[in-house]
Amino acid sequence: MNIITHKKHNISFKKISKNALKVLCRLQKAGFEVYFVGGGVRDLLLERIPKDFDVTTNATPEQIKRLFKNCRLIGRRFRLAHVVFGRDVVEVATFRGYHRKPAKSVFAQSKKGILLRDNVYGTVNQDAERRDFTINAMYYSINDYSIYDYVGGIGDLEDKLIRLIGDPKTRYREDPVRILRAIRFAAKLNFNIEKDTAEPIEELGHLLQDVSASRLYEELLKLFQSGYGLKTCRLMRKYNLFQHLFPTISEDCANKDYSSFSERMLDSVLGSTDLRVKKGQKINPAFIFVAMLWYPLNVLSARLVRERSLNHYDAFMQASNIILNKQIKTIAIPRRHIATIREIWQLQFHLPIRSGRRAFRLMKLNKFRAGFDFLEMRAEIEGKEIERLSKWWTIFQNVGFSMRQTMVEKLDDPDSRA
Ligand code: ATP
Ligand code: MG
Repeated sequence: MNIITHKKHNISFKKISKNALKVLCRLQKAGFEVYFVGGGVRDLLLERIPKDFDVTTNATPEQIKRLFKNCRLIGRRFRLAHVVFGRDVVEVATFRGYHRKPAKSVFAQSKKGILLRDNVYGTVNQDAERRDFTINAMYYSINDYSIYDYVGGIGDLEDKLIRLIGDPKTRYREDPVRILRAIRFAAKLNFNIEKDTAEPIEELGHLLQDVSASRLYEELLKLFQSGYGLKTCRLMRKYNLFQHLFPTISEDCANKDYSSFSERMLDSVLGSTDLRVKKGQKINPAFIFVAMLWYPLNVLSARLVRERSLNHYDAFMQASNIILNKQIKTIAIPRRHIATIREIWQLQFHLPIRSGRRAFRLMKLNKFRAGFDFLEMRAEIEGKEIERLSKWWTIFQNVGFSMRQTMVEKLDDPDSRA
């Protein structure tokens, strides 16, 4: 074990959230062993602003609950304590131990090796070995302000390496989401994935299909909406992981040079999402799916027109059902977002039809702005016709009422059509 004393590291006490400190201090006063761990310590050492501070202790969840009025216990796979301060939640985990001769009620594994329950408690050095990557397993104590590094996290942090603790294949099989986490941290921190940690990723990618769709949805938001979506997505494609998460996209995403409409749209939507995150603007998870699934939707819709002799609108509606139903099997997109995705897609169908009062009515719709933003994105990819339509809508929004009226009238006049 490596101990980095407070003189040798750059973590300042002041940068830690007050609530997290409160929780730590109270546990310490009650006589428990307690540390900060995880992304908070890692990010502080890298001089980045941590998202949150995870606390870990030898107190059991029940003992934690007894110490804090504002505490609730959550989780089945991992039992955790949440100490709640308004909108801020401090997560407190009890040290996790090894699974030697485990009792069934505290530990369970599926046939494929996935951990279903992992509630064997242990000591701090055992806890370190149960964590995912070395850089996520550094423990900061406010007893002596030292960092305790049991698995070589400090060295890997200096070498900029994402390294799984233990045997990579076993650790991926226990929890395939670690595959996505490796990629997420590599993109976010601009680190390399260490050779033995990277090597099994492609081969084991299919294990992601066994992960619950709701967990994958949560993970996907972290992958694509943390400000490094584009880089993350490229890494996912490098390791051939896309097909396991987005079965409908990969069918239409076969280009090696990433030049298909789907791939260009993917780059465009993730690039603009990254930009929005950097500017602190709101992002709508539905919008990413709108863009990602748009071309697969169009390919399928055209096929339905051919094969089932449907009109364009009916084919489009059926295709959206099929595509969304297929997608939610792997990624559980919440129902409210599904409704938004449909609305924005339908707007693409209606935006070209502008005569009479139609354009005025469309502009009043709730999702008009999102629909128009998406139209602009399409314009860059699909070319002239959509470009012209998107320009028309830009002008229409920026002029006064009487000019709008004229624009609509011109649509009906064959001589003034562009
Ligand atoms: P960030 O919060 O910046 O995304 P993080 O490292 O804090 O990164 P969390 O998901 O908040 O990630 O998890 C906190 C800690 O819990 C991790 O640093 C890691 O030590 C441990 N951990 C999380 N998920 C797993 C997992 N699937 N397997 C093993 N350990 C995990
Ligand atoms: Mg965290």
